[in-house]
Amino acid sequence: MTFTDRYAPSPTSDLHLGNLRTALAGWLLTRAAGGTWRMRIEDLDRDRVRAAEGVEGRQLRDLESLGLTWDGPLVRQSERLDLYRDAVASLPTYECFCTRREIAEAASAPHDDGYRPYAGTCRGLTGAERDARRAERPAAIRLDARAATQTIQDEFAGQVTSVVDDVVLVRGDGQFAYNLAVVVDDIAMGVDHITRGDDLLSSAPRQARLTTLLGGTPARYAHIGLVTNATGARLAKRDGAVTLADLGLPPAEALALLCASLGLGPCHTTEEALAAMPGDQRFHAGAVYADGGLTQP
Ligand code: GLU
Repeated sequence: MTFTDRYAPSPTSDLHLGNLRTALAGWLLTRAAGGTWRMRIEDLDRDRVRAAEGVEGRQLRDLESLGLTWDGPLVRQSERLDLYRDAVASLPTYECFCTRREIAEAASAPHDDGYRPYAGTCRGLTGAERDARRAERPAAIRLDARAATQTIQDEFAGQVTSVVDDVVLVRGDGQFAYNLAVVVDDIAMGVDHITRGDDLLSSAPRQARLTTLLGGTPARYAHIGLVTNATGARLAKRDGAVTLADLGLPPAEALALLCASLGLGPCHTTEEALAAMPGDQRFHAGAVYADGGLTQP
């Protein structure tokens, strides 16, 4: 069955090998299924985006140089604020005035993944209490999730179930939150298959719940293992030559490195990589970057 997937970079730092590997995996899964691959620029954090001038253009050029072509127009989150506003207005929400410290103090025990759900402190405020707190600090807007439980289907992780917490939809400074914007856009763009890094697996149930509340159908997910450094930490700039520019390899060689790390063999074009699909069962596993090489653990 075919589907629409997307790649959704935040234009705040250059794409490193781990980002590019996830993009390649998504492109391959999509093209192998005859699907549509969309591109979305997640540029809501205006301060960070402004501080990273030129990054968006380099991200897109890097993807194109590897042959990862996308369909349709670019979607840019900073141009879609009205959609996010309408979505928030249609959801059950409440204002939250908690400081970081208050949230930490009231939070319940951590879940397996270390996540500590918001305790719901502001859910029961009276009108008078709300008025008083509004005078102190601007409110964030939270989803009134009513402790719903949500199951998602991941191509590799199988079924994942988790309680949905009262996630922030609009931050105190007025910025629409990542979880909200992603869901509104995925529905509007007809995205029904989401390939991305498995650091976001724990966000999937709450995003699926939001999707349902906004009248959409939750996507199928394909979370891909991350690239780590030799000590097992997520790959970062400080790990050396991690971007295409740093590596200085011809695009075909960079593609070969990424394909080999997905278990596809050293393919030098995306056509060759597609012909090598479906990959072996470790297609979605992470990889380790050390000494300029990328290996599967
Ligand atoms: N913009 C997010 C990132 O760069 C990805 C969000 C998503 O794929 O849902 O990590």
